Amino acid sequence: MKLLKKIGKVLGYSIVSLLSILLIAFLILFAKPLWHRWVTYPKAQRDLEAFQTRHREVTPVVSSKVFRGLLHLHSYWSHDSKGTLYDLVTAAKLRGIDFLFLTDHPHGSQDSFPRGFKGLYEGVLIEPGSEKEGFDSWPIRDTAVVDWKLGKDTVAKVVTQNGGIVFYAHTEEPHNWKNPYFQGMEIYNYHSNILQKKHLFPILTDFLINGSKYRAWAYRTVFDRQTSILARWDSLNTRRKVVGFGATDEHENVNFRARLLKDGRVLWTGIDTKPMDTVKVSFKNRWLFSNPDPDGYVFKWMIINTYETSFNNDVNYVFADTLSVPEMRKQLLAGHHFMAFKFLGDAKGFCYFASDKQGKTLGIMGDSIRVADIGSLKAVSPYPGKFRIVKDGKEMTSTTNESYDFSWDQPLTKGAYRLEVEVKPGKEWQPWVYTNPIYLY
Ligand SMILES: [Zn+2]
Repeated sequence: MKLLKKIGKVLGYSIVSLLSILLIAFLILFAKPLWHRWVTYPKAQRDLEAFQTRHREVTPVVSSKVFRGLLHLHSYWSHDSKGTLYDLVTAAKLRGIDFLFLTDHPHGSQDSFPRGFKGLYEGVLIEPGSEKEGFDSWPIRDTAVVDWKLGKDTVAKVVTQNGGIVFYAHTEEPHNWKNPYFQGMEIYNYHSNILQKKHLFPILTDFLINGSKYRAWAYRTVFDRQTSILARWDSLNTRRKVVGFGATDEHENVNFRARLLKDGRVLWTGIDTKPMDTVKVSFKNRWLFSNPDPDGYVFKWMIINTYETSFNNDVNYVFADTLSVPEMRKQLLAGHHFMAFKFLGDAKGFCYFASDKQGKTLGIMGDSIRVADIGSLKAVSPYPGKFRIVKDGKEMTSTTNESYDFSWDQPLTKGAYRLEVEVKPGKEWQPWVYTNPIYLY
């Protein structure tokens, strides 16, 4: 009996010790995300909601409309995405996104267009493009064939000379910056931002704990100021016009999904859309599955990135007359756009522009204006912020107080002048808007 008691005691102690070790390990691994869940993110959300009550309507500076859109994202047509039309359009409508310029990875070196989705779907304009060799390219034409075997510099020449668009993707990586044919570059890419991190585990634990309720804040925690990319962009713009834009690079592929097949079984796919198993639906697993969505999905566990969140993150705002591909192409290449982290505040109404000495508007971001004509550089904003003018990579002025308007009329000389706006929902200033430059010549 004594021996049994002893064994029982030892067993009891062992179980308690093991549970304590597991609890301590859990707390060590998840302490920060749990702190975010219960303290940081709820406070950040309250502060953001208070900040957003300060929205004001802005009288438009120019007659163009403003369309919100995404450049560089992936759908089912890429080997590493399962995004469907339903997923894309649902997220776009939820977030007020007007256009999606897809960049699906080609299936081979002969890349023919159109492919995937092209056209207007429930009011959302979708144009297929290609991401390969560090390019975000959209041939635009209806029967284009891009031959990647020609080499990327030649592809850039062929695509742009035939009326297409070539922007540089993943600008943290090496590119031929001297190639005269590329027309623009990513100044922020969420995917690149994640890849820059030394440790991915804290990102994963943050999303595991906070993905369901505070995914936008988990996204924000990933954010780093892209100082060297912006410096590169500024330096290029001292020589010629290179437009800048925000890239989501959304694949919606760090998740687990289950899709109902025609034979009644269910196909499980995992991270990076890898097929895992096909199983029969039985009483053991039925509780996991909901009714199929229009694409047949009965289960989705989105761990990190979703269309829904990235369509509210770094969004491009384009000044244009109509929502059409030729018009978007024209305005994108003109640099008549800026990017904003939309979840901090929708930037519709924001404008960066130049006026003459009498106050008449001469042009907006992306435009070239004679030094002799310029009076001042100005901005209007639906949210109060701090404004910073960067000329050819050098800060020229930075306001310190929050304001809805900005005007700068110091003696202006030749150069590319872009504007950054930071907002302060809570205690910290957060980058919100990056505009294309106004070029003075
Ligand atoms: Zn991509």
